[in-house]
Amino acid sequence: MLFSDYHMHPQVHSLRPYTQQLLQPWADATRARGLREIALTDHDRYHDGVDFDEIDKLRAANPNLKILAGIELDNDPVHSAAGRAWVEKNWERLDFVLGSVHFLRGDWPFDHAGEEAEFGRRDINEVYADYYERIRAMATSGLVDCMSHLDLVKIFGFRSTNDFSDVLEGVLNEIHDADLALELSTAGWRKPVGELYPRDEIIRRAQAKGIPFTTASDAHSPVQQGENFERLGAKMGEMGIGEVATFRRHARRMVRL
Ligand SMILES: [Zn+2]
Ligand SMILES: [Zn+2]
Repeated sequence: MLFSDYHMHPQVHSLRPYTQQLLQPWADATRARGLREIALTDHDRYHDGVDFDEIDKLRAANPNLKILAGIELDNDPVHSAAGRAWVEKNWERLDFVLGSVHFLRGDWPFDHAGEEAEFGRRDINEVYADYYERIRAMATSGLVDCMSHLDLVKIFGFRSTNDFSDVLEGVLNEIHDADLALELSTAGWRKPVGELYPRDEIIRRAQAKGIPFTTASDAHSPVQQGENFERLGAKMGEMGIGEVATFRRHARRMVRL
């Protein structure tokens, strides 16, 4: 039984400073879903809205839940420098930092709705090469605990035709060497690609290297919390993944499922 959702966005897609009014529905949803552990991981571009005192209040009001202070750090060409500085400054107060790539060559926000057309115009192998180069930079940044939706570039179903085995091998080695966790994200199941992030082959390779996994929904609404976790739990069981990574102040502890 999965119990932890380590990726969600209380501020959704705008700056909405943390208050109990904003956060409590997320704790309510955690209980309603039968989960006991969540990480609040808004995008770093909205770090001004993250308020550690409000997270402490939420913890006090929900003592039966474990609530992590987190952030999703990405490569936003406009905001990521400030985001990185904020992560460094608040490292001690943060429990968990997700690393992700949402922008490709030409400051292209490739995963936004409607960007299929641009995928259609670009050389897909070049897109994949560019994506994984940026993933490597994030994995080696020293600022993240876990890599999020590792193969997000497949979001609209465009697949590379070149063999990216060596590139993926390099990426996974860097994740392993940096002692990072890898996120299993059910968000891929609700996107056009209709496939877990990351795909099975990547999960198997990560398993072989002993890379630990977190479980996540990438919820942008409380109702998406823990989405498809029954399905994910069954899949993990089939693949022989019997434990999940949990964090507190960046320290990882494995918990048997
Ligand atoms: Zn993301
Ligand atoms: Zn996210």
